[in-house]
Amino acid sequence: MTQPTAQQTVPVRALEKPGALSIYDSHHPPAMELIDTCVHCGFCLPTCPTYTLWHEEMDSPRGRIYLMKMAAEGGVARMDEQFVGHFDKCLGCMACVTACPSGVQYGKLIEATRAQIERNHRRPLLDRLFRKLIFSLFPYPKRLRWMMLPLWFYQRSGLRWLMRKSGLLGLLPERLRSMESLLPELSLRMLFAPLPRSGNTQLKPRLRVGVLLGCVQRVFFGDVNAATVRVLEALGCEVVVPPEQGCCGALAAHAGQEPEALEAARRIIEVFERSSVDVIAINSAGCGSYGMILSLRNGRRLFRPSAGTSANSSRNLGSRGRSMPCD
Ligand code: SF4
Ligand code: SF4
Repeated sequence: MTQPTAQQTVPVRALEKPGALSIYDSHHPPAMELIDTCVHCGFCLPTCPTYTLWHEEMDSPRGRIYLMKMAAEGGVARMDEQFVGHFDKCLGCMACVTACPSGVQYGKLIEATRAQIERNHRRPLLDRLFRKLIFSLFPYPKRLRWMMLPLWFYQRSGLRWLMRKSGLLGLLPERLRSMESLLPELSLRMLFAPLPRSGNTQLKPRLRVGVLLGCVQRVFFGDVNAATVRVLEALGCEVVVPPEQGCCGALAAHAGQEPEALEAARRIIEVFERSSVDVIAINSAGCGSYGMILSLRNGRRLFRPSAGTSANSSRNLGSRGRSMPCD
């Protein structure tokens, strides 16, 4: 079994040095009892996309957890670009979680570490600008919808073909190129598609289900939401899609922006409480993995958000494919 090494990638102090200081602040650092559940077996390594790509221990789940531990015990000298880079590169896909025989709660660990980084590390200017762009756009479906029109024109007018053929695309910053490559095929129908609505008129539905639309999902993948509503109706559920719902805070939480995440979670909890649903169905992977969404039954609040707490009481219809209580 190969033990992780960090010496080549982050500035380290000797772990045994007495009195060495943690680089975390006191507000919810990654919990040592969770870190210590990792037994370094390495079963997670082949499932991790970043490790598979680069074969760098510090870009594996095991390496990242070890790095969290070193930072807590004073083994890392400072929260610099290299340290932060290993956590930035984590996709948050949680493939490592299902592979882990030790039940390591990697999601909680990475969320806490990223919040620490957000508070205690100043990113370079370009990084900050890029993140500003992301956070001013992606949690706002109306803004995304407005952005769709020029993007649709870019795809359909031949401009995209020209950019690719001429090599001009290669001159764009790497991050913009990546975003361009991830852009789905757009249509004008998507631009004007209404929110999905339930047509279920059964007198006694089996459940009243609220559907969380997701910010990017409702704009770019509205068909998935419409299909979810159809499936729920076929299962005999009454579907409620509150039109006033905003961002659930997943994007902010995954980026370590804890205050923004908690505020968004509080707002969406209120929206779903008002709609008196039994459960909330989430079909977008990012929102579903967030888990700071409440579930309600008979109007009773099961999750009361308070600073620093989270709970996963929603039913996830998304990538993990868990069954609904209708079956
Ligand atoms: S969440 Fe995904 S990218 Fe991050 S460590 Fe786990 S498997 Fe790797
Ligand atoms: S599979 Fe779990 S216990 Fe094993 S190294 Fe990965 S995170 Fe640690």
